[in-house]
Amino acid sequence: MINTDIKSYFKDVEDIVSQCDRCGTCLTVCPLFGAKDIESSSARGKNNIARGLIQGVVKPSTEILNIANFCLLCRTCVDNCPSKVKTDDAMIALRQYFADKNGSPGAKYKALGTLMKNRTLVKLSAGALKVLRKVGMNTMIPHGMAPSEFTRKQYLASFAGPAALGSVAPMSPIKISDKSKVAYFKGCGMRMMFPDAVEGTLAILRTLTEPQLINNMCCGLPHLAHGLRTDFLDMAKENISLFENADVIVSDCASCSGTLKHIGAYFTDDPVWKERAAVFSQKIMGLSEYLIHVGYKPQHSVNTKLTFHEPCHLGRGQGIKKQPRELLKATGNFIEMAGSNICCGGAGSFHIDYHDIAASILEKKRINIENSGAQIVVSECPTCLVQLNKAAAQSGGKFKVMHISQVI
Ligand code: SF4
Ligand code: SF4
Repeated sequence: MINTDIKSYFKDVEDIVSQCDRCGTCLTVCPLFGAKDIESSSARGKNNIARGLIQGVVKPSTEILNIANFCLLCRTCVDNCPSKVKTDDAMIALRQYFADKNGSPGAKYKALGTLMKNRTLVKLSAGALKVLRKVGMNTMIPHGMAPSEFTRKQYLASFAGPAALGSVAPMSPIKISDKSKVAYFKGCGMRMMFPDAVEGTLAILRTLTEPQLINNMCCGLPHLAHGLRTDFLDMAKENISLFENADVIVSDCASCSGTLKHIGAYFTDDPVWKERAAVFSQKIMGLSEYLIHVGYKPQHSVNTKLTFHEPCHLGRGQGIKKQPRELLKATGNFIEMAGSNICCGGAGSFHIDYHDIAASILEKKRINIENSGAQIVVSECPTCLVQLNKAAAQSGGKFKVMHISQVI
């Protein structure tokens, strides 16, 4: 019997999962393949379960929610799927369904969602973290919230957000001139965890323009990914209004730029916001995308070998692959590592919720970095930087981790 309630709720999901012909191509490419020896870990299994839920064969349960949550949203399956089935989108919709059904995505996500919706609290947290880092006490917070000492240090960064959503976000079609007003979008993860990299980005931008500094809201990806869609839309509207005077909006966080490029797609049925949202999304550029677009030449030449970890949100999420590598090659000593575009296991809160599995994914990344012979691994996303820093610690100091703004 068809469950009409769920069926009408999941119109889009049904469209997505009905395209899955169960060919199994996605099984071995998924970074989670082998992590749990069950079909539901794979995109094919997830799509089957979503289909069963819509058709009323499977009942909504915590087990089904756990299956939806057990996904990095990395889009590797989408990239490799002959039918380009957007399993990541389907899992996000399932999470939203359960959050609505249960009245909340759960206390942890609700609390962090509330924190990140409040600009003052984000600012205060960033300031407090800066002080605590200086005196070496950052590992003490937040007491009792992190599942282990290993993750405690990075806990607040866990909400930098999982992979970009929907179809690949297009490159910005914007034409940039000397007169273009360029604004900087400061992501929460960058602000809280990597203030030095933020300074690096601003220093680079200042060699090219006078960047507008706007007290922006969170990009909203953590909210969207965990069933807080209303919060996501509210924050999107605020950001749209805040950046109305900018011609170009540059973000050095791949999660933020990927999400912001998709905002237009969330307002297509809203006559009031549709046009403004579309214009806003078209102004968004990732840092390396912008720098290559305007012909920036790296200011430093680096003698040590560099390699690049390609964030899911940047490469598969936005199609930005060549630009960061071009910039790094111009520094003089770039080397491509094996598996550079494979997810590091960070994926927003995944590395907190599934610590052991995220660690096993990261271990493969560590080996690839070490085998490349690079002394510095560079990335363009704070969640990846958090993960890679764990890998650097595991390697016993064989390599360092830097944001791209710190080496070019
Ligand atoms: S998601 Fe794509 S690759 Fe995976 S089983 Fe379905 S059709 Fe095949
Ligand atoms: S989005 Fe990534 S983690 Fe999720 S099923 Fe696809 S390949 Fe696996």
